[in-house]
Amino acid sequence: MTVAVIGGGITGLALAYRLRASGTDAVVLESTSRVGGNVQTHARGGYVMEAGPNSFLDREPTMRELAEALGVSARIRPADAAAKNRYVFTRGALRALPTSPPAFLKSDILPLASRLRVVAELLSGRNPTGADESLAQLGRRHLGREATQVLLDAMQTGTYAGDVEQLSVEATFPQLVKFEREHRSLILGAIRAQRAARQAKTPGAAEAGPRLTGQMSTFDGGLGVLVDALAKALGDSVRTDAKVEGLERSADGGWRVRFQERGQPAELSASHVVLAVPAPVAASLVRPLDSELAAKADAIPYAPIAVVHLGFAPGTVPKPDGFGFLVPAVEGKAVLGTIHVSTTFPFRVEGGRVLLTCLMGGARKPEVVARDEDALVALAREELKSMAGLTATPELTEVIRWPRGIPQYTVGHLERLAAMEERLKRWPGLHLAGNAYRGVGVNDCIREAARLADMLGGPAGQATRST
Ligand SMILES: Cc1cc2nc3c(=O)[nH]c(=O)nc-3n(C[C@H](O)[C@H](O)[C@H](O)COP(=O)(O)OP(=O)(O)OC[C@H]3O[C@@H](n4cnc5c(N)ncnc54)[C@H](O)[C@@H]3O)c2cc1C
Repeated sequence: MTVAVIGGGITGLALAYRLRASGTDAVVLESTSRVGGNVQTHARGGYVMEAGPNSFLDREPTMRELAEALGVSARIRPADAAAKNRYVFTRGALRALPTSPPAFLKSDILPLASRLRVVAELLSGRNPTGADESLAQLGRRHLGREATQVLLDAMQTGTYAGDVEQLSVEATFPQLVKFEREHRSLILGAIRAQRAARQAKTPGAAEAGPRLTGQMSTFDGGLGVLVDALAKALGDSVRTDAKVEGLERSADGGWRVRFQERGQPAELSASHVVLAVPAPVAASLVRPLDSELAAKADAIPYAPIAVVHLGFAPGTVPKPDGFGFLVPAVEGKAVLGTIHVSTTFPFRVEGGRVLLTCLMGGARKPEVVARDEDALVALAREELKSMAGLTATPELTEVIRWPRGIPQYTVGHLERLAAMEERLKRWPGLHLAGNAYRGVGVNDCIREAARLADMLGGPAGQATRST
């Protein structure tokens, strides 16, 4: 059996690695000259910069397993203790996010009336229809208007850069739906879930699987360490500059993949094909086979993002406190949030430099991402001045634009996936993978890649779920 994996992002690489480790032949075809997709790390002028993801929460066993198998788990670094605080820009100031219910009651993150409205959540009702709804709809019912605009919006912005009115609560924060269904109140649900988790931990019992710290983490040289290790382990089973242009069923029930490799037409036969590419690319590849499946994939929108790095020479700005801050949409800013990279991961800068990474645009201001680099840097600096009082001139700036930044799981996303699943049954051996479907984080991509690899590499090589 040969599996052709289309797309050499973290999903495609992790999938091919796991397949090969279990003895299944897998080849990765990547259209660009480098692997990693969104994960791109580079160093310049005393700064290690991430073009895409900055960190992962060390709580996903398949991520740890992968790092261990590749021999890079000792290079995982947790966030510095100084990154423990997180801030939200609201009502004209950066305000610390409270970390416990008593701290919330005393904090100034929301005005008093809105904090009391959150407490009244204990009396709130269930979703009357039971159908999927937006994060904002669930938020307003349980927490009130202001907590939804400030807290829920900041929470989703940190992961999805999305629109709280559009995102599906079932697809983005399923635990909230579970709490509501099982306990009516989100607060009661969260308290009971915490208690159950504590009780489930038998003191002294050895934990199965890899040791997870639960901390925000990266690698000593950034996330590129993982991609480089995967590329090295996969060797020449990864083919770069190989842009896939077409798929056909072959007479033996397998697949023929047509691609351009360094400008030359090429072909590959495979028993399974995994499209680990962005959803619009998957749509264009399956359209000649199945226009309905293509339409469903095309219906997954993306929020564009601009990443703006600002590097400050030693001594020119004070070390900012905490992991960084998020900016709710209601503030009307183009900056979605700012990561205090040098506070969180001090080893990513040399000699007391300060590195701030601003994420801009998103679903709320997609047009901003098309601006030229100078304009983006100027806008980031102007907004940082108004929000954080930062006036110093950076010694280094860099801008990376992602026109297809983060896929948006809008209301009805899970239904759309189920319908795609049904269509895929007509195409045995064809699979969709990657961040457009069942989780946008690096951890989600690796977990889902492992799940698919185990199904394909299992005894019958037969998948039971294809997205
Ligand atoms: C700015 C930004 C910040 C983020 N921050 C975080 C974070 O801090 N933590 C976190 O966990 N996640 C974060 N994410 C999300 C995470 O990075 C992505 O969801 C994840 O990396 C996606 O991996 P993927 O392999 O599914 O897709 P991609 O990385 O998009 O890979 C798809 C690959 O397919 C290739 N391809 C496309 N068309 C073809 C074709 N025709 N033929 C062959 N190859 C093709 C592409 O070149 C690409 O390499 C962030 C994302 C962005 C954009």
